[in-house]
Amino acid sequence: MSDEPDLDSLRRELRSWLAVNAPQGWREKTQTHAEFAADQRAWFLKLVEGGYATPHWPAEWPGGGRTLAEQKVIYEELARADTPRLLLSFVSTYHAAATFLECGSEAQKAKYLPKILEGETWCQGFSEPNAGSDLASLKCRAERKGDVYVVSGQKIWSTMAQYADKCLLLVRTSSDGPKQAGITYLLMDMKAPGVSVRPINQIQGDQEFAEIFLDEVEVPVEERVGAEGAGWAVAQATLASERGLTLMELSYRMRGALHYIADLIRTTGRNDDAGVLRDFGDLVAKVDATCAIADQFLDNRINGIERVGDASFVKNSYSRTLREWSALGVRLGGMAEQLRKPIVFGDLNTGNFMADFMNSYAWTIAGGSEEVQRNIIAERVLEMPREPKGWTA
Ligand SMILES: Cc1cc2nc3c(=O)[nH]c(=O)nc-3n(C[C@H](O)[C@H](O)[C@H](O)COP(=O)(O)OP(=O)(O)OC[C@H]3O[C@@H](n4cnc5c(N)ncnc54)[C@H](O)[C@@H]3O)c2cc1C
Repeated sequence: MSDEPDLDSLRRELRSWLAVNAPQGWREKTQTHAEFAADQRAWFLKLVEGGYATPHWPAEWPGGGRTLAEQKVIYEELARADTPRLLLSFVSTYHAAATFLECGSEAQKAKYLPKILEGETWCQGFSEPNAGSDLASLKCRAERKGDVYVVSGQKIWSTMAQYADKCLLLVRTSSDGPKQAGITYLLMDMKAPGVSVRPINQIQGDQEFAEIFLDEVEVPVEERVGAEGAGWAVAQATLASERGLTLMELSYRMRGALHYIADLIRTTGRNDDAGVLRDFGDLVAKVDATCAIADQFLDNRINGIERVGDASFVKNSYSRTLREWSALGVRLGGMAEQLRKPIVFGDLNTGNFMADFMNSYAWTIAGGSEEVQRNIIAERVLEMPREPKGWTA
C-alpha cells in the first residue's frame, strides 16, 4: 500500500466543505477596512475549524502535517472557490510560526503557536524608511535596562500592522562591528505603551500596510528570539518562509484562479480569437512554470538543499506572471473592467483585474525587490562581474 495521500479524495472533500463554508459575496459586501479585517478573522477561524488553515505546520499541531502535494491542492481549491486570501493572518501562520518553530524557545512555541490558531495576529516590523533592500542598515534602537529592552524608532510597510496584536521586530542593540552583528530579534506587543500605528493609503484604495512609531517601548527580555546580537540569523528564518511557502501558496492560488480568465474569454466572445487564445496559452505555461519553480525550491529545501538564487527565481517568476495574468484580465474586460468600483482590499483575489494589476507591482517589491533578486541571480548564480570588464565611468 502506498503512503502517498489520496489527492483526489482531498480535493473532493475540500470542495464539499467549501460548498458549505466558503464566504459568499464578500467582495461586494465589504465596504470598510474594519469590515474587511473582521471578515478575514472570521474566515481564518472557519479554516482552522475545518483543518485547512495551517497545512504546512508540523503534524503535532491541529491542521498540520500535510504533504506539499496536499498543500498545493488546498491552495488551488481555495482560489477556485474564490475565497479571500488571508492577508491578515499569513504573517502569523507563515513568518511568525516558522520563526518560533525554527528559532523560538519551547516557552515561546507553547505561548504563541496556539494563540495563532485562536486568531492572534502578527505583523513584521523589519523595514525602515532607510533600510529596505539594505535591511542590515536598520536603526531602530533597543537598549537593555534590567529585565526589559527599551525600544525607540520607526518601522514602515508593515503589512496589516494596524490590526496586529504582536510584532516580529528587528532592532539594533549595538553599532559596533559588522551591521548584521548588532541586530536583535524581539517579539513586541502592539498594545504596549509607546507604540503608535499609522496606516498608509495606496493607489487602489487599500491600506494594506502601516508605519509603526516606537517611543520608549518596553519589551521584556524573555520576548527576545535567540541571543542578543543574533537577530540577523533569526530573521533569515522569517524571510525564508516569506520567500518559500508564501510564494508557493500564491503560485498555486494563481493557478487555481486561471478559470476567471477563461470565463472572461468566453463571456466576451473571444473563444475563436487566435491572438487572445495564444496569450492565454502563454499565460497558462508561465503559471505552470512558476508553480514548477516554486515546487523545486521547496522540494530542495525539504531535502536540505539550499541553492543560491532559487528563492530569487521563484520571487521574480511569480511577480512577473501575476502582472501578465492581471493585465490580460484588464485587457479582456476592456473599459468596464477599468471603471469597476475599487474593492476594499486588492490582492490575487480575482474578479477585479484592475485592482489585481495595480497590486501586482507591489509584488515586484515585497519580500525583496525584483532588481535585487536579479542582482543575486546575475552575480551569484551566473557569476557575472559587478561591472563589465574594461568598464570605466
Ligand atoms: C506589498 C508589500 C508588503 C510589505 N510588507 C512588509 C512587512 O510586512 N514588513 C516589513 O518589514 N516590510 C514590508 N515590506 C517592505 C519591503 O520589504 C521593502 O519595500 C523592500 O525590501 C524594498 O525596500 P525599500 O522599499 O526601502 O526600497 P529601496 O531598498 O529603497 O529600493 C528602492 C529601489 O532601488 C532598487 N535597489 C535598491 N538596492 C539596489 C541594488 N543594490 N541594486 C539594484 N537596485 C537596487 C530597488 O529595487 C527599488 O527599485 C513590504 C513591501 C510591500 C511592497
